[in-house]
Formats: sequence, structure tokens, C-alpha cells
Amino acid sequence: MAETALLAINDLHAWYGASHILHGISLHVSPGEVVALVGRNGAGKTTTLRAMMGLMPKATGRVRFAGQELLPLRAHQRFHLGLAYVPEERRIVPGLSVRENLRLGLVAAGSVIEERAAIDEIAETFPRLKERLDQEGVTLSGGEQQMLAIARALIAKPKMILLDEPSEGIMPVLVEEMGVLFRRLRDEGKTLLLVEQNVEWALRLADRAVIIDQGEVVHQSSAAALLADKDIQERYCAV
Ligand code: ATP
Repeated sequence: MAETALLAINDLHAWYGASHILHGISLHVSPGEVVALVGRNGAGKTTTLRAMMGLMPKATGRVRFAGQELLPLRAHQRFHLGLAYVPEERRIVPGLSVRENLRLGLVAAGSVIEERAAIDEIAETFPRLKERLDQEGVTLSGGEQQMLAIARALIAKPKMILLDEPSEGIMPVLVEEMGVLFRRLRDEGKTLLLVEQNVEWALRLADRAVIIDQGEVVHQSSAAALLADKDIQERYCAV
């Protein structure tokens, strides 16, 4: 299984200064899989994504993505390999329109896709953005900004997308819309690693679930099995 993985993390450790946050995370994601990474606040989920993207001050271990070892690479080189990241803070750039923010997704990925065609295509997937392409990005609602951050990650057709709590602080109607979008991406064969506090919602979207607690993987199963196991959810995911 792990040999065919798109992403294989082995014995990942990470530190903030002297604080040892990740204590040997190992997990894999196969092509076309949607994996939910869950666990309580402070468990190390965001740190795992940040370490993968080269954003931690210190990280050791092996993180193999699409046949390449990621840890020795600079952050922008990881984007160029087809790894997209939607951080918790959406980083919509003030002063830029929705269209210009989308363009940044192509630039960050070093994409050679023709810009106009790429924006037209992504706008079909995100009708709320299509109507607002020339509006300044930061004037959108919080949920729409989250959609923009996701669209910006998708526009260069990455091999895999890391999403950090996309549903956080978003109106229920948009969370529902996002769920429909993620199901569609899953059906199209996209590979997603989804960090979420909204555990039930994430488990209903995912194929597999991984729980992190205190910087270690403590449980892996199908998403359906974890959804049915209230004891484990209560033990490791209760806020
Ligand atoms: P949350 O939902 O709260 O973000 P999480 O599972 O994503 O939870 P992380 O953000 O990865 O957790 O945090 C893991 C640990 O790292 C926590 O103990 C947190 O206090 C610590 N931590 C996070 N950011 C920093 C930082 N900039 N400096 C020092 N410690 C940090």
C-alpha cells in the first residue's frame, strides 16, 4: 500500500524552538484518496501540514511525495511538485481582485497553464467567485474567502491538496456547499488531506481517518469505522 502512496510520511518530528511538537508521525495517502486528519486542539495537525510545506523551524524524518523527498526542498519547490496548501488563515491578498488572487495560485505552483482558460475553468467550479472576479478579494464574506483560497489552490491542478480546517468559522450553508465541492473533487479522483475540528463532517467526506494526539498517530481506520466509533472520537477528538 505505502509503496504506491502519493504521500508517505515516516517518523516525522518537528520543533518550535525547544518544544518538540511532533514525535514520529507516520502516515500515507494513496492517489485519489481523501484522508481526514483529526484530533483535539493542539494535537499537532497544523504542525504536520506546516512541516510538509517547509514552514517549521526544524523538522526531521522522511516525507516522500510523488517520488521526491520533500524535507530537503525549499517551500516553493514543494508547491512546484504539485502539492497545494490551504492554510487556516486564508491569506487573501488585500488590494488584489478575486481574479488576481487566483492568478497567484498559478504563479505559486510555477504553472504554465494559460491564465484566462484556467480562470474560466475554475470559475465554473465556483459560481460564487465567477460573479465576483473583479471585486477585491478581501471584501468577500469569510466563507467566500475560504472558497477563494481553495480555488487558488486548485487552479494549477495540483496532485494533492492539504486543507487546514476549511470549515472553521463559516456559515452552515457554505459548509454544506464546501462538502458538495469536496465530494465532487473526490469523485474526480483528487487527493486530499483534510485537517478538521468538525470531525463528523470530515468523516462523512473522507475515505480514511488518521487521529493525532500529542504529536503522535494514535488511530488509523476507514472514515466510516471512526464515524461509528463514538468512544474513540470522544477519547481523542473531544474539544
Ligand atoms: P489546532 O486546531 O489548535 O490548531 P492542531 O492539532 O493543529 O490544533 P498545532 O497547531 O499543530 O495543533 O499545535 C501543536 C502544538 O504546537 C500545540 O501545543 C501548540 O501550542 C504548539 N504551537 C503551535 N504553534 C506554535 C508556535 N508558533 N510556537 C510555539 N508552539 C506552537
